[in-house]
Amino acid sequence: DTIPGNLARTVAQHGDRDAMVDRTSGRRWSYAELAADVDAVAKGLLALGIAKGDRVGIWAPNCPEWTLLQYATARVGAVLVNVNPAYRAHELQYVVRQSGMRTLVSAVRHRSSEYAAMVEEVRGETPELREVYYVSVGEAPRTGDDSWQAMVDGGRDVSDADLDARTAELAPDDPINIQYTSGTTGFPKGATLSHHNILNNGFFVGELIGYTEADRVCIPVPFYHCFGMVMGNLACTSHGSCMVIPAPAFDPAATLETVAAERCTSLYGVPTMFIAELGLDDFSSYDLSTLRTGIMAGSPCPVEVMKRVVAEMNMGEVAICYGMTETSPVSTMTRVDDDLRRRTETVGRVMPHLEVEVVDPATGLPVGRGETGELCTRGYSVMLGYWEQDDKTAEAIDRARWMHTGDLAEMDEDGYLAIVGRIKDLVIRGGENVYPREIEEFLYTHPAIADVQVIGVPDEKYGEELMAWIIMRPGEQPLDAAAVKEFATGKLAHYKIPKYVHVTDEFPMTVTGKVRKVEMRERAGDILA
Ligand code: ATP
Ligand code: MG
Repeated sequence: DTIPGNLARTVAQHGDRDAMVDRTSGRRWSYAELAADVDAVAKGLLALGIAKGDRVGIWAPNCPEWTLLQYATARVGAVLVNVNPAYRAHELQYVVRQSGMRTLVSAVRHRSSEYAAMVEEVRGETPELREVYYVSVGEAPRTGDDSWQAMVDGGRDVSDADLDARTAELAPDDPINIQYTSGTTGFPKGATLSHHNILNNGFFVGELIGYTEADRVCIPVPFYHCFGMVMGNLACTSHGSCMVIPAPAFDPAATLETVAAERCTSLYGVPTMFIAELGLDDFSSYDLSTLRTGIMAGSPCPVEVMKRVVAEMNMGEVAICYGMTETSPVSTMTRVDDDLRRRTETVGRVMPHLEVEVVDPATGLPVGRGETGELCTRGYSVMLGYWEQDDKTAEAIDRARWMHTGDLAEMDEDGYLAIVGRIKDLVIRGGENVYPREIEEFLYTHPAIADVQVIGVPDEKYGEELMAWIIMRPGEQPLDAAAVKEFATGKLAHYKIPKYVHVTDEFPMTVTGKVRKVEMRERAGDILA
């Protein structure tokens, strides 16, 4: 099916149910209202002359218009280009040019980001960008700035028949979305995805969590990323569940307040978000009794954090998902009926209708169960390719259509996968492979440590040495290398004990909440000098 076809079915079944709630503005939509607004936006796009396949960008933090545009572009067959809200002008310009974007919807401003000013700067130098419309996010509309409504109004004279005629031309395999990867390991690449790719992935995520029209899903993760727009929005709309937007950008207190006020049944986050929520001074004052489930994903999910989420946030059915932008995104997932160990220590089993394989990166041949190798996935979820980067596509997807993830994994006898780390983060110390993840998991068990990341730094003698970056729990004295050594001795092999310890308040992060180890490695030189 196509995304508009699927939405129409949900509207027919659940038209009067809540579809979307925006806590910032207090606005709410039923499914019937959501469909009507999506159609109004879609007509606005048709009135602009947007053709099937034209690229329409969105550069904004989470807001209801983001979602409306997501479904409106799908309705008219335009390719939605998600632009990272943390970008600055020159990065926007790269995406505008790389994607060949003709229309952009942008926030006026949010927090310290003056989006409109940056857009106007880029627009002067990029004539291919023809139309820009602004929406006010998290603040009262300002006269003259808020041109989104004018764009929508421009479609008033477009008939339902014209809109339906366009939708009738769409095919499930048409490209519908260019999503840039998080840029954790380097420059982001634009994954081109079809209706079929992302609609099915969202649907199956919702199926495995057991979403129904009774579920209310709190989505604090960015829509610009697949976690928000696929595992969030598409999982909800394909099951008649309600999308709840707690705030334009992640705010731990606003998130928990929203769960309580909107009686959410499900909560999403990358591990760092759950850590921030659990760390709130007034954590125990939020009523989380309606929560049942949720998803932790995006980067390695520390076992200790998973256990606390289950025990202290009332999320007994929380799932871990593993995937990447290029695979729509989810490839493996834990299931409610998996035992607690597997639900906290593995990323579960392969999703329905997909294949996974662990291969030796050197030979490309499958390794045995329990052995470490590169995880590869195949099936409906694999992207069409990187947008206008055929060389990169050929490096990532082999001739048998396997997507090479760049992640190291182990599969057990029953098909459960554990992610050992990224190939690019593997540390080789004195000829021994060291997986930072293993050391991070161990250090999380230290009572004074709130968060920890381990990287390799160059070393003349051993090739690489380990360095731990540690965020202390509030009120705890900073740990030094000697203290870490004492804690680890006898429990970790000597070559796995970090030689260097750096106590910090924060890690360099992507907007999707991932730690940028590349940047940590760059900075380590100065810290150790
Ligand atoms: P880039 O490709 O630009 O360097 P990125 O890979 O972080 O950035 P995404 O597509 O957002 O961009 O993230 C996919 C990656 O996130 C996976 O390849 C994997 O390394 C990591 N990841 C996702 N989910 C999990 C998980 N549950 N456990 C461990 N790692 C995960
Ligand atoms: Mg990647």
